This record gives sequence, C-alpha cells and structure tokens, in this order.
Amino acid sequence: MRIQPNPARTKAVFLDRDGVLNRSLVRDGKPLAPCRVEDFEIFADAHDALQTLKQKGFLLVVTTNQPDVGNGFVNGAVVERMHALLAARLPIDDIRVCYHSQSAGCACRKPKPGMILDAARELGIDLGSSYMVGDRWSDIEAGRAAGCRTVFIDRQYDEQRPDDADFDVRSIAEAASVICAATDADA
Ligand SMILES: [Mg+2]
Ligand SMILES: [Zn+2]
Repeated sequence: MRIQPNPARTKAVFLDRDGVLNRSLVRDGKPLAPCRVEDFEIFADAHDALQTLKQKGFLLVVTTNQPDVGNGFVNGAVVERMHALLAARLPIDDIRVCYHSQSAGCACRKPKPGMILDAARELGIDLGSSYMVGDRWSDIEAGRAAGCRTVFIDRQYDEQRPDDADFDVRSIAEAASVICAATDADA
C-alpha cells in the first residue's frame, strides 16, 4: 500500500477570551474575568470578525487562562457554560483552557506557550503561518514563544504592556482586518 503524504498543515488564529471575544470587567484599570454567566457579554463585532478569519482559511482556537477556577473563586461549571455560549454564538473550532492557579507552575498558563503548542500538535497547525490575538502582555508573550505572529488589542489597561507585538489594534474587528491584510500580502 502506498504511503499517503501528510495533509497540508493548517494555519490558525489563537484567540484569548476575556477582552478579546467578550468584555472584561475592568477594576482599578485591571481587567478581570467575568465570574457569572449573566456578566458574560460577547462583543458585538466578534462574530463577523471571526467569520472573516474562517473565510480566509484559519482554524479558530480560543486559549484562555481561568485561574479563578484553580483558586476556588469560580466553579468550573460556570466557565463551561460561558464556553458553551461562545461555541454556540461564534464560529470557533476549539477552546483550550488553563484552569490552574498562578502558583501551580503548569506548562499551559500563558505566558507559557503550552496551550498553543498542544493545539498545534493535536490539530496539525503550522505555527509560523498562525497568529495569537490578545489584550495582555502574557498573550503576546505566549504567541511569540510559540512562533506565531501576534496581534495586541490595546484596551488601555493600567498594567505592563507588550512592546513586541507585530500589530497593535483596538478591537477584534480590527485584529481580523490586519490579519486578513497580512494574509493577502503573503499570498
Ligand atoms: Mg484577555
Ligand atoms: Zn495550566
């Protein structure tokens, strides 16, 4: 029997969740994950932005730190209900979650690239033609460490900012626009 060549590896956009796909609660200039399903508000421009990326051939993979679960402040079932909403309303392909607390030392919590690397291995993603989109330094660092191009959504938080993102934008719609433009330029 003839050995089949590997299928072409696909490209992906890795998406942080809070502040990217849904509104973060901002307190004292710092973003917080919503703790209740009632507070989980998907941005109005997220659906069309993601649809545009899908039409460009990107797999869409959410990668999110949810340490409130590991810290015992939020029940994992609440986060799973939020993710059921995301999956129902947005054209995403996969959701990867790090539930560990900051002190657990896991390999998946951003800024480590573990969630991205695992998804790439399991889904056959070419990281060099992929993007990480996030609203915090740790998202950009994780994407860069994984070998992706990076898009920083600047929500003007009062915290450390990435200075090495490939693109700086203000919304998920703008993130999709710059990724699509870069994809056209590569072609
Ligand atoms: Mg975020
Ligand atoms: Zn983790």
